[in-house]
Amino acid sequence: MQSPFSILQSHKLRITDCRLEIIQEFLDKNIALSHSDLEDKLHQQFDRVTIYRTLKTFLDKDLIHKVLDDSGATKYALCAHGETEHDHSHEHVHFKCEVCGETTCLEDIKLPQIKLPGGFEKKEMNLLIQGICEKCH
Ligand SMILES: [Zn+2]
Ligand SMILES: [Zn+2]
Ligand SMILES: [Zn+2]
Repeated sequence: MQSPFSILQSHKLRITDCRLEIIQEFLDKNIALSHSDLEDKLHQQFDRVTIYRTLKTFLDKDLIHKVLDDSGATKYALCAHGETEHDHSHEHVHFKCEVCGETTCLEDIKLPQIKLPGGFEKKEMNLLIQGICEKCH
């Protein structure tokens, strides 16, 4: 069972209250969250700069990844972590529900291989599927 504490430890990150709270929020919700989602929840404890810096650290350490959906705000989701912290892929499908508006990682659905024309170099790939999620069905 993953705890915020063990996740920070496995990434060799110092334990701070803000880091623990943000990871806890990702674990509780299990959906992609934007900076303002986190701020709404945690603004009484931490200022926006602290939340921003924490997200940046998590992104640099590959503890979270960016999720592009159509909301216009950058969202982040907790990475799936196996034995070591980097043995996971961000190239999975993201699903946005048009009823609840939540975006989730479908870690098991890998993105198809796409062959680009000569001269084009892939850096990252995103696939967002929109529809109705399991909960709203
Ligand atoms: Zn990652
Ligand atoms: Zn839904
Ligand atoms: Zn994801």
